[in-house]
Amino acid sequence: MPKSQSKKEKKQQPKKNKKQQPAWSNVYTLGPITFDLARCAGCNLCMEACISDVFLPSQQEGKAPQVAFPGDCWYCGSCVVACNKDAIRLNELLRNRVHFRPRVK
Ligand code: SF4
Ligand code: SF4
Repeated sequence: MPKSQSKKEKKQQPKKNKKQQPAWSNVYTLGPITFDLARCAGCNLCMEACISDVFLPSQQEGKAPQVAFPGDCWYCGSCVVACNKDAIRLNELLRNRVHFRPRVK
């Protein structure tokens, strides 16, 4: 990389070695949980990580678990962290999406 490149020019360059994952395609949402059925391998790691037993295993092998008790979710995010396929997302409650900013004087 030439030394004459400014910091601004360096920032504008695309980052290398970042894995590009395809966009979510086959989405299934129920209450607090959204699955991408195309990515999910049906490993049930998310179900095992859940502190509230929100999920039940799918009756079909290799499919995403069922969101059986969505009202029991604590929005802890353990299921999202447990998934290594990036196939599950948490639909945060609106009240949890608030971002407080310090008052500017
Ligand atoms: S951990 Fe991920 S891949 Fe495994 S069943 Fe859950 S959502 Fe699917
Ligand atoms: S966010 Fe926590 S409580 Fe809710 S389904 Fe995931 S692991 Fe269970």
